[in-house]
Amino acid sequence: MDLNHLFNSLSPSWTSAAMLLSFFLYLATVGSILPGKLVPGVTLSDGTRLHYRCNGLLSLLLLVLLLGVGSQTNLVSPTAIADRGLELLSTTFIFSVYVTFMLYLVGCNSRAKSSSLKPHVSGNLIHDWWFGIQLNPEFMGIDLKFFFVRAGMMGWLLINLSVLAKCILEAKLSQSMILYQLFCGLYILDYFFYEEFMTSTWDIIAERLGFMLVFGDLVFIPFTFSIQGWWLLSNKVELTTAAIIANCLVFLIGYMVFRGANKQKHMFKKDPKAPIWGSPPKVIGGKLLASGYWGIARHCNYLGDLLLASSFSLPCGISSVVPYFYPIYLLILLIWRERRDEARCAEKYKDVWAEYRKLVPYRILPYVY
Ligand code: NDP
Repeated sequence: MDLNHLFNSLSPSWTSAAMLLSFFLYLATVGSILPGKLVPGVTLSDGTRLHYRCNGLLSLLLLVLLLGVGSQTNLVSPTAIADRGLELLSTTFIFSVYVTFMLYLVGCNSRAKSSSLKPHVSGNLIHDWWFGIQLNPEFMGIDLKFFFVRAGMMGWLLINLSVLAKCILEAKLSQSMILYQLFCGLYILDYFFYEEFMTSTWDIIAERLGFMLVFGDLVFIPFTFSIQGWWLLSNKVELTTAAIIANCLVFLIGYMVFRGANKQKHMFKKDPKAPIWGSPPKVIGGKLLASGYWGIARHCNYLGDLLLASSFSLPCGISSVVPYFYPIYLLILLIWRERRDEARCAEKYKDVWAEYRKLVPYRILPYVY
């Protein structure tokens, strides 16, 4: 691709803006009307709790169904997203910049006192725009943080499906593409099946909504996590049966650790006496779980995510580093995040955290790190 062509492909367009806004409009509408479990979020410092309607799975399945029917009846093109990848990327980027400046302005002018909306202004424009001013800003009654992360995860699947459609129409479907699509598809469906678990994650409970989070959700997740699919459109990979089996094992073990660890913590927070792997849990200071995955390594859930991320890239073979962008990025992010969370927990739990560290000395990688 020459520079001129690249520049043209990267130019935002009104068509892309219309596609993006239709997607947001769909999500805002179905998010408010479709049934879903109403999950209370963590208790905030002022004692209040937000409530999240977890109907992401239903919203996603309905959207895929509508798009499927639309493409069968020639109302929408199944390759509309894949044909406009870079154009959609730049349009979404511009949207993220715009929306975060609006969040900055609204946040700075807020007089709210609640934990969700109280403005945190350092006075440094870049810092405040990047990290955000308010914890849980809303637009027309919609919690924007929960909305954007949902949009990003769904966007990732929509990009993948469009790339798959392009691959099939160009008669290029390969075992690698099937594995990549299968693993990511299962991961995203699982994410929405357990959407309520999201309500207690770091992003939702601790981060304010600024450019870092909005860009991460809307641009980074869908457009970079799908690099493998784009790469497979123009690169051929021959996989041996042993490589396919090994790849499936990495996915299955990764899934078991990722989902198992996150589930154990979630259940523990709801009921600290709930058995872990069939035995009463080991609890430190009445607050921290030291059984199951959380007794093998602190943040063992990150290990599961890293194995899953690797399984999404392994179908691309080892001839190029490009499809390994996601696992490499995730490794850096999770090591950084683990350190930040470690500091947060040490501050919050004090002696109890020190005792947990003594009992469970490994971080992320059991018996190594
Ligand atoms: P966690 O879900 O691990 O949450 C960390 C919090 O859990 C801590 O702040 C603490 O909060 C609590 N906690 C930690 N240890 C214990 C323990 N032993 N017992 C009880 N509570 C404990 O972190 P994240 O929100 O960062 O990650 C959630 C998932 O999302 C992970 O699986 C991660 O891999 C994934 N993720 C994926 C990303 C991606 O790009 N694919 C990016 C980031 C995360 P408290 O104050 O409530 O006790």
